[in-house]
Amino acid sequence: MKDTLDLPETITMKAVVKDAPARGFSIVTKTIDTNLHDHEVLVKVLSASFCGTDYHIYAYDDWARNRLKLPLTVGHELAGKIVKVGKRVTQVKVGDVISAETHIICGTCEFCLRGEGHICENTKIIGVDTDGCFASYVKLPEANCFVNNPDVDPKFLSVQEPLGNAVHTMAHFPIEGKDVVVLGCGPIGLMAVDVARAMGAKKVIAVEVNEYRGQMALSLGADAWINPAVENTTERVKALTGGRGADVIGEFSGNKRAIQEAFKYLKAGGGLSMLGIPSEPITIDVANDIVFKGIRIYGVVGRRIFETWHQVRALIDSGKLHLNQLITHQFPLSRINEAAEIMGRKECGKIVLIPEDL
Ligand SMILES: [Zn+2]
Ligand SMILES: [Zn+2]
Repeated sequence: MKDTLDLPETITMKAVVKDAPARGFSIVTKTIDTNLHDHEVLVKVLSASFCGTDYHIYAYDDWARNRLKLPLTVGHELAGKIVKVGKRVTQVKVGDVISAETHIICGTCEFCLRGEGHICENTKIIGVDTDGCFASYVKLPEANCFVNNPDVDPKFLSVQEPLGNAVHTMAHFPIEGKDVVVLGCGPIGLMAVDVARAMGAKKVIAVEVNEYRGQMALSLGADAWINPAVENTTERVKALTGGRGADVIGEFSGNKRAIQEAFKYLKAGGGLSMLGIPSEPITIDVANDIVFKGIRIYGVVGRRIFETWHQVRALIDSGKLHLNQLITHQFPLSRINEAAEIMGRKECGKIVLIPEDL
């Protein structure tokens, strides 16, 4: 295939833009020029998915207010086809169906050089620090592209990035044959339930206050759903695990009290893998709950690049995941504000958005 299709100098497209310091997104018609940097590619977006981060941007909360420079084209989870490559691109080619690692890393800092690019000190995030993929076309660095199996439905491919968060969280400590708690069942926690099942956990216990999501966790194969609003989580986890507690906890809630309690039902020697982001500092009994229990704690940042992506692909290809169930809604991109409201009400698993051609 030649390295560029016949593209005009500029393309007119629809895009989802955060252009005002208030709640909501604007759907705009904008142009993107097709000139590329040497190591950049132009991607036609086939499918995108809605992330919790996008909801923060939609709602324009304190984090968004402090972080974003407006106007910004939003979105970072995608599957798309490469339609043009920069002069020195070697890793991908026109026609490849790719997804993107969201973290643009420097490749030269201490962490990148030792193979831990997920904690790169110069990380930029697509759709947060650079224009994103809620549009018909997006420009990406070639180094961020993960070439997909083109036979998989793009809507499944676009959710690999959050699925990577779930896999990174659940795969850090061995879970095969273990008793596992998934704490917080938003879209990524629900994926974690599915991942834990697929990876051979003995028992998967979902902890979630929202009825819709608790029921979804059960339908995805959780052995039990505990609602901490009405039940004693520690007692129930212990009852379900022979009195000792969970071997591994995947923390997706970011909830202060839920995190404090998790230390009580984590088994001695167990592993706590933390992805949820609390909005305030949390007091922990370090002596009794960490040191004397000999537990391990792992902070999860993004995905290991690209180790986690290969694990995700292997899981998708194994046929053991239930992505069709995890994706509960699909909208044309122009109806993203509806999608955001559903996300705000927590009445969803993953929401997929399909760009429309102009
Ligand atoms: Zn995301
Ligand atoms: Zn770096």
